[in-house]
Parts: sequence; structure tokens; C-alpha cells
Amino acid sequence: MPGNGLQRDELELHFQPQQRLRDAELIGFEALVRWRRGGKLVPPAEFIPIAEESGLVIAIGDWVLERACAQILELRAQTGKDFVIAVNISPRQFLHPDFLRKIERLLKETQIDPCTLELEITEGAVMEQTENAIALLHKLRALGLKLSIDDFGTGYSSLSYLKRFPIDKLKIDQSFVRQLKPHSQDSAIVEAVIGLGHTLGINVIAEGVETIDQREWLKRLSCDEIQGYYYSRPLPCENVLPFVLSQFSY
Ligand code: C2E
Ligand code: CA
Ligand code: CA
Ligand code: CA
Repeated sequence: MPGNGLQRDELELHFQPQQRLRDAELIGFEALVRWRRGGKLVPPAEFIPIAEESGLVIAIGDWVLERACAQILELRAQTGKDFVIAVNISPRQFLHPDFLRKIERLLKETQIDPCTLELEITEGAVMEQTENAIALLHKLRALGLKLSIDDFGTGYSSLSYLKRFPIDKLKIDQSFVRQLKPHSQDSAIVEAVIGLGHTLGINVIAEGVETIDQREWLKRLSCDEIQGYYYSRPLPCENVLPFVLSQFSY
């Protein structure tokens, strides 16, 4: 991997568990990349935007997808269960002409069940080239992948487009969850997003859930799933299997 001094073997993928509220079950993980530079872990906010500019995000994204598939296979081998792993796809990666072919090749090579791989797309990526993007979403969906819209509510997506996006999940951005309290303005927004999602047959997950009070209020609002420090911080890969085993009695 050229540029920025960033090498593949300096990347690490961490996994943050996601919980279904109805039965408090672990359903899967979001894969989050880190750069181990010297002794320090550099967070993605400090290198993904630069990598997006330079194009390096394509190579990083390929690596993340490969690692995520390997993790899916390993969890199945170790537990006999399928867990969904959600991967962040940058706008440049999504709009790259080879993206669909790469995904097809990855599915063929790894033989994972396609519905265990979820792609998180931001509103920006889809709105940039709307017609192409919608066509691509349909092709990815036809492969059996899961699709979600990340950071929902922070972008500029028009609601009328939403019904044309073949997506499975809306991820409510953590800025609406951070100060979530009953009967607050944030609560009204979150409730509206959940209602919108459910009307369109789309699951809704809230990100950045840190407290039991936030979790309980989201459950009252019929939110489907949560992700955040309350349930678990992102885990280095060696802690993923122990976490899974702690959630189920085998
Ligand atoms: P994101 O996709 O919105 O990811 C959620 C971020 O919130 C993660 O930060 C996660 O560690 C953090 N988080 C999770 N739960 C909580 C919580 O309860 N409280 C708080 N305050 N934060 C929480 P992280 O890992 O630093 O990632 C930041 C962003 O970097 C991600 O935001 C995503 O946009 C990007 N990113 C991460 N991994 C990748 C990747 O593999 N590829 C690409 N293109 N972007 C990535
Ligand atoms: Ca994400
Ligand atoms: Ca997000
Ligand atoms: Ca974000």
C-alpha cells in the first residue's frame, strides 16, 4: 500500500457488537478499522478522510472486506452460528467501477452466506450519483447482501429517495442518541426515523448508546437494535469469540 507510510500489516480490524432489543440477542458486529502506528492505535477519523482523498481508501477497503469475511467464517467454524458483520464503505470505494465485481469475487472465493455481510453506505455516496447508485444498490441486494444507510439524519437525503433505496437498515446517527431523553427534541426525531423506517419495512438501529436509560427509551420507541458502549466497546479480534461465547450458553 503506497502513500502515507500506511502498510497493510499495520491495519487492525475491531468489531463492535450489535444487540437486538426485542430479545437482547447478539446479532452481529460493525467492523471498525484502526491503524497501529508504532505503539499507538490511530483512529479512523485521523486517516480515512486523507485516504479517501488520495484513493488509498480503495486498498484499505479491500483489506477490510477480506478481513470481515474471514471473521464471519471463523465465527461460524467456532460457534456453528452465523453473525452479520457490517462493513463501512466509503463513497469513493462505493462509486469505484470495480466495486461490484470485487464483491462478487469475494463472495465466490470465501463462500460466505451473502446475507451475513452488510454494507454500510452513507447518504452522501448514494446522493452523489443517484441513478447509478440506486442501480448498484439493487445489484448488491440481488447478490443477497444486506445494505444499510449509515449516519442517517446527518446527510441531505431526500425522503422521497429513501423509498427507492433497496435497503435493509437505517442507522440513526449517534448525535441524536447522545442526549436522548424522554420527550426531548432528539426523542421526537428518533421516533420519527423509527416510524419512517418501519413504514418502509426497514429495520432501525441506534448508534452510540452509552446508558441503560438510552437503551430503555429506545426500546419504548420500538427501535429494533442498538450499538454502543452500553452493550460493548469495539473489540480487538481476539476478544470477539470470547464475547460471543459469553452471550450464549453452549
Ligand atoms: P461510524 O461508522 O459512525 O462508526 C461509529 C463510531 O462510533 C466508531 O468510531 C465507534 O467506535 C464509535 N462508537 C461506538 N459506540 C459508541 C458510543 O457508545 N459512544 C461514542 N461516543 N462512540 C461510539 P471509530 O471506530 O473511531 O470510527 C469513526 C468513523 O470512521 C466511523 O464512523 C466510520 O465513518 C469511519 N470508519 C471506521 N472504519 C472504517 C472502515 O473500515 N472503512 C471506512 N471507509 N470508514 C471507516
Ligand atoms: Ca458505520
Ligand atoms: Ca455511523
Ligand atoms: Ca459517523
